[in-house]
Amino acid sequence: MHKLPLSGFIQDSFQEYENECALVLFTTGCNLACTYCHNKKYLWERKYDAFDIINTRLRPNHTAVVVLGGEPTFHDNLPSLLQHIKTTGRKTKVFTNGLGAKSIDACVPYLDSCSVDFKTSLNPAVLGVDISIKAYMRRVKDTLNVLKHSLTPTEVRTTIAPGITDIDVERIKAILDLTYPNAEYIIQEYRSIY
Ligand code: SF4
Repeated sequence: MHKLPLSGFIQDSFQEYENECALVLFTTGCNLACTYCHNKKYLWERKYDAFDIINTRLRPNHTAVVVLGGEPTFHDNLPSLLQHIKTTGRKTKVFTNGLGAKSIDACVPYLDSCSVDFKTSLNPAVLGVDISIKAYMRRVKDTLNVLKHSLTPTEVRTTIAPGITDIDVERIKAILDLTYPNAEYIIQEYRSIY
């Protein structure tokens, strides 16, 4: 019951959730195939179960659990996992590619913070799957609307990957100004590890 596969985890991290010591879970699989994915080598590995890791690896020093991927909303039982984490008294944060608005909506009661990866407004080739830019933008905006209306603290990230231009970034900023002006916008540099 309750199996949610992970490709890996980090026992202690201060990187993903500001001012929190987090147990970090990497969920298996993703509904995109970004050309620059940092995690593509391990993306589909199923090495652990998230519920088992929560039950066996949480320590008193952990103040939060961060769930990232892969794509956490790819898994139907993500809301159940967050609910389970909240019973331990820890804060929760999810990193998402923004395509799973319905899942994020179901997670909101158990979600303390969210990071949305807003990739590009112009170049569908970067996403690596058959999705139109129009459909992609609509789905990310749906996710941002869910987070805004639920008052969930939200950061939006864009990685300046190969193929993403300053014009893309300006367009994303314009969309954010309309959709979720209070979201923190972070532009991060691309680092190749392959
Ligand atoms: S959304 Fe993230 S995990 Fe999924 S393919 Fe793109 S970079 Fe990799």
